[in-house]
Amino acid sequence: MSPAVVCLDAADTLFTERDGRAALYAEVFGRFGVAVPEPTMATWMAAAHDEIPAPLGGEPRYSRAWFRAFVGRLLERAGDRRDPEPVRAALEEVFTDPRSYVVFADTFPALDDLVEAGHRLAVVSNWSDRLEGLLDALGLRRYFETLAISAVVGVDKPDPALFHHALDRLGVRPEQALHVGDSPERDVGGALAAGMDALLLDRDAEPPVPDHVIRSLAELPARLRGG
Ligand SMILES: [Mg+2]
Repeated sequence: MSPAVVCLDAADTLFTERDGRAALYAEVFGRFGVAVPEPTMATWMAAAHDEIPAPLGGEPRYSRAWFRAFVGRLLERAGDRRDPEPVRAALEEVFTDPRSYVVFADTFPALDDLVEAGHRLAVVSNWSDRLEGLLDALGLRRYFETLAISAVVGVDKPDPALFHHALDRLGVRPEQALHVGDSPERDVGGALAAGMDALLLDRDAEPPVPDHVIRSLAELPARLRGG
């Protein structure tokens, strides 16, 4: 396996939220006087994610319009009927602040090794149009030739179209590319459906781990050298 292009998922692959997504939501809601315990918030977020249609009014998932509806649904669950926009804007500020995130310790060394070994890199991520600025602020943008971001392209993983968007921009065929991410369905399922090779990053996997699983990005350069 020596792919010309290595695509990587962003969230929970390259970096993660310092305090967890639901904790950040609970903290911002608290600022607006809406107290929701973190585990409750996590449950409501998972449900609202499935309930809010995408696209919504022609706008893709993770667009401002979609997030406004998402935050509105969470406020409704808390019995609060206010205009969700100020809460959405405060959340956007938190989620675009690089201090809200931590880059995994294995990320920079692995990206350095991959670039050194001659692989071209791309990000394929379900995220808002703020991802490029965030990657830049985290020092990660410079590694990637192109970014396929769901809210920009208008489709989300596991739709093969998001993967094909990245590969078309790079002028390579799917069989010349590998995708790595932490979601079995969105990352591995989507990439395989797109005709690419795929590896699942499962940092908590207990040995013995299956062939298509890595437990750290540090395993990636050797995997690609080893054939
Ligand atoms: Mg992810």
